[in-house]
Amino acid sequence: MSKQVYDLCGVGIGPFNLGMAALADKTSLKCLFLEKNSSFNWHPGMLISGSDLQVPFLADLVTFADPTSPYTFLNYLHHQNRLHSFFFFQRFDIPRQEYNEYAKWVAAQLPSCRFDSKVTNVISRDGLYEVTVNGQETIYARHVVLGTGSVPMMPPGFKPSNDVIHSNFFLQHKAHLQKGETIVVVGSGQSAAEIFLELLTEKDQFGYKLAWLTRSSGFLQMESAKLGQEVFSPDYVNYFKTLSYKTRKSSLNELEHLRNGVDAATLKAIYDHMYHRSIYGKETDVLIQPLTEVNGFEDGRLHCRQWQEDISFELPADRVILATGYKPHLPDWLLRMKEKIKWEDKHFFEIDDDYRIIFKDNRPNHLFTLTNLELASGTGATNLGLSVRRNQVILNAVADKPLFNLKQDTVFQNFSANFIQETFSIQKSGR
Ligand SMILES: Cc1cc2nc3c(=O)[nH]c(=O)nc-3n(C[C@H](O)[C@H](O)[C@H](O)COP(=O)(O)OP(=O)(O)OC[C@H]3O[C@@H](n4cnc5c(N)ncnc54)[C@H](O)[C@@H]3O)c2cc1C
Repeated sequence: MSKQVYDLCGVGIGPFNLGMAALADKTSLKCLFLEKNSSFNWHPGMLISGSDLQVPFLADLVTFADPTSPYTFLNYLHHQNRLHSFFFFQRFDIPRQEYNEYAKWVAAQLPSCRFDSKVTNVISRDGLYEVTVNGQETIYARHVVLGTGSVPMMPPGFKPSNDVIHSNFFLQHKAHLQKGETIVVVGSGQSAAEIFLELLTEKDQFGYKLAWLTRSSGFLQMESAKLGQEVFSPDYVNYFKTLSYKTRKSSLNELEHLRNGVDAATLKAIYDHMYHRSIYGKETDVLIQPLTEVNGFEDGRLHCRQWQEDISFELPADRVILATGYKPHLPDWLLRMKEKIKWEDKHFFEIDDDYRIIFKDNRPNHLFTLTNLELASGTGATNLGLSVRRNQVILNAVADKPLFNLKQDTVFQNFSANFIQETFSIQKSGR
């Protein structure tokens, strides 16, 4: 019996590969997407009631590539009989819980998505990939796409426990956290702010003291100016890809403020809450402290240092939530191929314009990636809206024909001097 060979096998079903599966559904490509968990669930520990998606709903799984797809967010609303409520809701930013429900609805309709299927090994043999699922079954595919997302990053000096958790697991631990006497939230990004707001709002029911510390110089707002946001466009990614390694690396730091920080609505809600609570006197059991790094937690004491003044102090605490970010999840089987891959540096592999990881051999079967792309495609590497474009590029490459029309010149800004409008008659010098 001849073996079934897929054109593309996706590892992981987060929003990125789910979007790929939804776009591929209309094509003749034979695809299979594998997820270790039993169902789709988007960062469940952070599905805080009242929290919103940080991108407009148009950055759903498919709209940018194909607004006529049955898997758009608007079609989801239509099927839920929620279009009218959404019409009167009049907002572009939708609840995170609703995005999760929408994505579950899409996943349930796609026969190419298989759950309870952990990819335990991938090897390349005779121009195909052999993908091992749950240590026993073998799937054959011409190409593989890595969509394993990210894993929580704990700072040095902290061991995860029931009392010390990463923000990724907040909701699962919330009841236990609220039994503490002093809860400390560490970090100054969106997750830290949402958790602080939630704990502040419910503080009176439990009576804990609450502290919010960050090493950053302030609790700053995420850039939301429209022209600033244009770096989250395909045009910017196309420009960024042409830059040298050194320039890409340094511009990641320069553009950090575009995706880090807290959205204006959350910061406002926190401030309003603090203001209302201060009417009869400023609260002494809420501490909000920037410029302060935390260096470890021992015997119920948090080791802290106000770095600008160089003053170290210990903060007694019995619950700590580290909203200290994520790092790309590179599975063991990928790291076993390490020597065969070309790397830009010790963290980032080289990828080509179609998001293929570049191997030293000239293989016909390709390993595409949606993960660990920061250095290759810039600050928008994990942006939901940009993932749709990336999926179009990859599906075109897998099909070896233009299944999707890749639109250019989509924003008002010009990033490269190589594309300056002819009407200005500019004289260029240099490269
Ligand atoms: C709390 C939070 C909120 C965010 N909000 C936004 C936002 O509003 N807007 C925005 O643009 N971006 C946001 N992001 C960033 C980004 O959009 C998300 O991280 C997104 O989930 C990335 O999708 P993904 O598919 O790459 O990875 P993930 O969602 O992490 O999914 C990866 C999947 O791979 C599975 N997996 C891993 N290894 C294997 C294996 N060996 N076999 C099978 N399956 C495996 C995992 O179980 C997981 O389900 C947010 C990130 C976080 C952490």
